Amino acid sequence: MATATRIPPEVLARYEPVIGLEVHVQLLTASKIFCGCSTSFGAPPNSNVCPVCLGLPGALPVLNRKAVEFAALAALALGCQVRETSSFARKNYFYPDLPKGYQISQYDQPLAEHGAIEITSGEGRKKVGITRLHLEEDAGKSLHDGFAESATSTCLDLNRAGTPLAEIVSEPEISSPDEAFEYLTRLKEIILFTGVSDCNMEEGSLRCDANVSVRRKGAKEFGAKVEVKNVNSFRFIREALAYEIERQVEALESGEKVVQETRLYHAAEGKTFSMRSKEQAHDYRYFPDPDLQPLVVDAAWQAEIRKQLPELPEALRARLVAQYGITEYDAGVLSASRSLAQQFEAAARSAKNPKRVANLVQSELMGRLKARDLSIEQSPITMRGVAMSADLAEAGTISSKMLKDLYDHAFATGEDFAAVYEREKPQQLSDASAIEKVIEDVMAANPQQVEQYRAGKTTVKAFFVGQVMKATKGQANPAMVNELLDKKLAG
Ligand code: ADP
Ligand code: ZN
Ligand code: MG
Repeated sequence: MATATRIPPEVLARYEPVIGLEVHVQLLTASKIFCGCSTSFGAPPNSNVCPVCLGLPGALPVLNRKAVEFAALAALALGCQVRETSSFARKNYFYPDLPKGYQISQYDQPLAEHGAIEITSGEGRKKVGITRLHLEEDAGKSLHDGFAESATSTCLDLNRAGTPLAEIVSEPEISSPDEAFEYLTRLKEIILFTGVSDCNMEEGSLRCDANVSVRRKGAKEFGAKVEVKNVNSFRFIREALAYEIERQVEALESGEKVVQETRLYHAAEGKTFSMRSKEQAHDYRYFPDPDLQPLVVDAAWQAEIRKQLPELPEALRARLVAQYGITEYDAGVLSASRSLAQQFEAAARSAKNPKRVANLVQSELMGRLKARDLSIEQSPITMRGVAMSADLAEAGTISSKMLKDLYDHAFATGEDFAAVYEREKPQQLSDASAIEKVIEDVMAANPQQVEQYRAGKTTVKAFFVGQVMKATKGQANPAMVNELLDKKLAG
């Protein structure tokens, strides 16, 4: 971050930040929320439009059932109660990318309420309440650059107008920029597991507005809040909040008031800038949309949606730890996505030692995939191959050096592990007398270490293992080396 700390820590410590986040996720329906236009990203401007999403007079909206199901599924995954009856309202404002002059949203009767996300904060586990999750339509896009007329005009692309969004509003219960980062990470992970959105921030399918205020520690009343809009990464949100907290404390310390307003974050400068004074709810003249019936998601429909709930990240992690004996940390890495976890489980189930599989996937597989920008599904080494390599290493048939070489070969040729192993199968030295001879040579060359070992410093054994492997170019059978070394070193 570009900002240096301007406020002494002991001054900052007298204040308590209060943060609430509003997250929009784009739902992965094939068509828009109130018309049949396609939602595909990247189509030529204004090619996915019709009278409804263009807001032409007399056109009537028809609610997309799939959008309701996706939003309800996300709501259930976030522990919300889905209301049996919710309703749509018009949020009126003027903006060029909003052709109707109002956005169809939900206001006093949102689709779902009263959820929570559990996060790990400095003080341990904590729940952040979710006030509501509601459905709304997206606006279009103003395009300021890239066209012949850009110097004098702003162009409009209305392809995105009418794309279904779920807005997820947190309670003001987040207490630091780190907690905000953690909340967003967990939220995104849960939504990704449900599959209702790809949460791609670059394409705008996840957007976050951050509300922040500060108050003296122990104060009952909240301070005036600032809304930071259009921040396009979780890291920048953390930075923007940190900056904003200091800016507000500085204002209060010098006897000024914090102005309730909307601000923008400039990542390059690490600062927020005033954009406009914050509008109040009454500025929007919300009123029920007369073109849309109340939305009824009855118990039977809710039960049907609930059946589609996948195992969620938290539960998955706990199960991986219990079922495969891996660490919490490993379970965290391996549950980064549903498909990674599924792949890991496939390998762990068929291998002798699941912990070794967990290590291999992280230390040998993921790094190589990342370096080549491949997904786990694109890996040349299948999970069957990972299991096979784990078993070979477990049995001591291949050393870790050989395993690394075989993985490198597989990634170079695009073959699976089994094929590479069959061809490149190391000429392993499994002849006991030959290994014994090498051990004797190594011991003769290192009499001091032999003495140390015999005097009780048994950790020196690792040194001998290394020397023997080096002398045999990594080809000696590691299990035999271990066994024979024990015998020889004992004298
Ligand atoms: P608005 O009507 O200004 O949009 P809301 O009450 O709808 O305000 O809250 C919007 C978001 O701001 C919510 O996530 C809420 O938790 C958060 N919030 C509300 N008051 C504060 C405050 N004083 N400080 C920080 N965040 C707040
Ligand atoms: Zn349309
Ligand atoms: Mg609001």
